[in-house]
Amino acid sequence: MSAPVVNCPTCDTKVVWSEASPFRPFCSERCKLIDLGDWAAENHRIAGKPDLNAELGEEYLAELEEELMGKDNQFFK
Ligand SMILES: [Zn+2]
Repeated sequence: MSAPVVNCPTCDTKVVWSEASPFRPFCSERCKLIDLGDWAAENHRIAGKPDLNAELGEEYLAELEEELMGKDNQFFK
């Protein structure tokens, strides 16, 4: 019975599932690192809601500015 063969998730190279492939299911350490990098990028994208926060922050700043302007107007009266 021969060892099962899987495809490297990164580059699709056939990898023999045995002690001969220490990075299985990846064909090499490079492909393993690339896949981990993809995961990190994915997580970064999922956690990437600072765009929304920035929008809210801008709105908040505009509100603050309006408030300050109102105070300034009162101050000048
Ligand atoms: Zn590979």
